[in-house]
Amino acid sequence: MKNIIFLAPPASGKGTQASLLKEKFNMSHISTGDLLREASRNDDDMGIMLRNIMQSGNLVSDEIVINLLKNKLNTDLKNGFILDGFPRTVNQAIELDKLVNELNLNIDFVFYLNVEKETLKNRITGRRLCQKCGKIYNIYQESVNSCTCGGELYQREDDNVESFNIRYEEYIKKTSPLIDYYEDKNLLIKIDADREINDIFNQISSIMQGDLND
Ligand code: AMP
Repeated sequence: MKNIIFLAPPASGKGTQASLLKEKFNMSHISTGDLLREASRNDDDMGIMLRNIMQSGNLVSDEIVINLLKNKLNTDLKNGFILDGFPRTVNQAIELDKLVNELNLNIDFVFYLNVEKETLKNRITGRRLCQKCGKIYNIYQESVNSCTCGGELYQREDDNVESFNIRYEEYIKKTSPLIDYYEDKNLLIKIDADREINDIFNQISSIMQGDLND
């Protein structure tokens, strides 16, 4: 059983890689973005606040996200977990260390997906998601009108250039210090993520299977 983290800028493909890994290794995929999007659909004060923050591209407070994550990590995770979108601040990483310690778990790999800002910006406006199964597409890379499962495709409200610029700034300011944080712990594996989805996936899978850092 391996527990992994994806450390990556917005639209770098972490959600896609996490879904592929979940399928191949039967792991639990924990996306704080998905958990927050679900909570943001509630018509209460919390839902409205989350919608506003997420649409703007800013980060949600550590307290809210950590509480959501705690509930998930306390469930059955026997084939390991993939953290997609968490931690995003040094404080979240410190809290995660405490949490995994309490639960007698380890973090095995932190995959840092490296992609240039201009590539990310171009990708973001083409991203579409399936309403039914959550599968991610990019209309610049393939001509698609609906998902293979039959579900309709939609565009995330924060997938526009204005939100992207703020999300990217938040990433540089608050998340990128985690590169050093995990490098110091000897957990960081840098992946060139400006490549075909399958090439990236094969590299990550072989590292997961053989503990190879290639
Ligand atoms: P994502 O789906 O990972 O791109 O996340 C979408 C949005 O959810 C982000 O732009 C943040 O507003 C919020 N979010 C997701 N994960 C976190 C986190 N770990 N800490 C704070 N905000 C988060």
